[in-house]
Amino acid sequence: YQAGLAKFAQLPTVSADGCAVRLVANISAPSDADNVLQNGGEGIGLFRTEFLYMGRRQLPTEDEQFAAYKNVLERMKGKPVVIRTLDIGGDKQLPYLNLPKEANPFLGFRAIRLCLKRPDLFRTQLRALLRASTCGNLKITFPMIAALQELRQAKQLLLEEKENLVKAGIAVADKIEVGMMIEVPSSAVMADVFAKEIDFFSIGTNDLIQYTLAADRMNKQVAYLYEPFHPAVLRLLKTVIDAAHKEGKRAAMCGEMAGMEAAIPVLLGMGLDEFSMNASAVLPARKLISQLSKKEIGQSMDQMLQMETAEQVKQFISKHFPIKL
Ligand code: PEP
Ligand code: MG
Repeated sequence: YQAGLAKFAQLPTVSADGCAVRLVANISAPSDADNVLQNGGEGIGLFRTEFLYMGRRQLPTEDEQFAAYKNVLERMKGKPVVIRTLDIGGDKQLPYLNLPKEANPFLGFRAIRLCLKRPDLFRTQLRALLRASTCGNLKITFPMIAALQELRQAKQLLLEEKENLVKAGIAVADKIEVGMMIEVPSSAVMADVFAKEIDFFSIGTNDLIQYTLAADRMNKQVAYLYEPFHPAVLRLLKTVIDAAHKEGKRAAMCGEMAGMEAAIPVLLGMGLDEFSMNASAVLPARKLISQLSKKEIGQSMDQMLQMETAEQVKQFISKHFPIKL
């Protein structure tokens, strides 16, 4: 499987039946971008900005953030870079925000919920992003959107900051694509509604799986329930991808599932447009996709979606695709 990977570094990602998809990478620091390019990544599908805020004593300033976003955009030389606004809370805490301890942090005050309650903090990040937008191909995504009003409020704040900058004579890219993370089941179910108001979805399966099966992604005792191939998860993914396409929008995935050898055939068959993974997984994924027929997999999709258990899905995968489980 690892053999003969090097030649895929310079090639586009195309299935055996000629369908193109995009393979991009997840990063947590601007300097990670170099490794993405060396591994044949076609862009950044998720820059987790939390790491600019962590391991320090106060919030990063607008200029510090601007420098980081400019840095990653320049390193990627015009290739698409999806930057996610602050997703703090849950497993990632910022001691200097002095937030009260919560009984259920994963169901609590995190990500966009916190940003909308702290517009000072959020607007600072949005301004830094907007100022950096002329340095490359920036796209913005919002984390943990659970309800339409959150998306609308976030977009409104972005628009206001854009107008403020333009009024102040500061250059901002004309068109910045705006997307949202699909990582809460309510948003997956309502994807048809959300699709009308975004440019792309980034499906965050790490959280989507935990919330769908009510199984903490970090708790070993319930790890048996944390199952990417659970038919409930697959049906949600299909709903989201179809909803995006119905509105002519792109469906991307940046959860760990997007880089899993066994999941790639299923996601390709569902029509996923963009797979974002660890940089080291890009070339193996490109090779695998070159051996798969999207059309053929698509024809067995209904059958897979009708299966009753994850075990049945996995058996089907190992029987039909050139991968080991
Ligand atoms: C996800 O939930 O799948 C995701 C990509 O976000 P994070 O892992 O940062 O929560
Ligand atoms: Mg997440």
